[in-house]
Amino acid sequence: MSALIAMDEAQLAALVKECGQPPFRAKQLREYALKGTPVEGMSSLPKSMRDLLVAKGVTALAATVVQSKTSAIDGTTKFLFAFGDGNVVEGVLMKYEYGNSVCVSTQVGCAMGCKFCASTLDGKVRDLTAAEMLSEVIAAGSAAGGVNHVVLMGSGEPLDNYGEVTEFIRRLCVDLGMSKRHIALSTCGLCEAMDRLSKEEYAPVLTVSLHAPNDELRKRIMPIANRYPVREVVAAAKRYFDSTSRRVIFEYSLIDGFNDTPECAKELAALVKGFPCHINLIRLNPVKERGLAGSSKAAVAAFSDALTGYGVSNTVRRTLGADIDGACGQLRRKFLGGEK
Ligand code: SF4
Repeated sequence: MSALIAMDEAQLAALVKECGQPPFRAKQLREYALKGTPVEGMSSLPKSMRDLLVAKGVTALAATVVQSKTSAIDGTTKFLFAFGDGNVVEGVLMKYEYGNSVCVSTQVGCAMGCKFCASTLDGKVRDLTAAEMLSEVIAAGSAAGGVNHVVLMGSGEPLDNYGEVTEFIRRLCVDLGMSKRHIALSTCGLCEAMDRLSKEEYAPVLTVSLHAPNDELRKRIMPIANRYPVREVVAAAKRYFDSTSRRVIFEYSLIDGFNDTPECAKELAALVKGFPCHINLIRLNPVKERGLAGSSKAAVAAFSDALTGYGVSNTVRRTLGADIDGACGQLRRKFLGGEK
């Protein structure tokens, strides 16, 4: 099976020739693929060509939606995408006043081992290709009438799949016409790769998962902290800002009784002081395999107020899709039978 979205110009031209069609059909195939139109629905192609493509196993996209669940609470839709080799990943479509945002996965599973994350429970299976990630965006978007923002925050550490991820971002900008300001990449803090990304032509908005204000706490929930001390991560984020002039966002999941104390707020404020950044506070979506619970609403509000008091820009993010296995990796595990 081959996907049109994964083909370059030469491959599309060769396919068109194999079908005995004139060269201009290659452009049509590419345009249809970028819209996610199934081969059977490519109505400006002759029926004989469509039948031939179907017989060859050619598809528009490199991912298909095998399951979707929409939250009755907030309209968030969670998708399960399947690839040609049978692997599945999750994606989420969120509706905001400013438009639709899709959260995509960049790897099947993840090698980073964060303790609050269901995506990493079985380690990394494989990297996704740029065409597979693009297919997630197009498939989710065609179900919702378009996508304005993309966040690379599903399963996987994007900077652990650097080449395919940067190609994916380039294609979002070039092929789909998206602004790099509308693309956010979330990393657990791979410092060298953050520096490299800051020099890319299509450098996205950077969000960095901190989740703890010091190494001692961070090491207990994020193994990557054994490789990169939190001060180095924040220093790399500051260099990213210096290089791109774009404010860096830090993600901080509030875990009950662990990182939500007034001392933690004070330490966090001191850590990120001195350059334009913003902290997104998220009440942890519980992951039952890990026995971690989100902070109380009162603790979240107090933490946010404390940061504000220290002059640190912050927002409490809504927990989206709580009724549809909102936490990263949970829907996939259910689908694969990993969660009983
Ligand atoms: S939070 Fe992100 S980096 Fe950490 S294990 Fe989960 S997917 Fe990987």
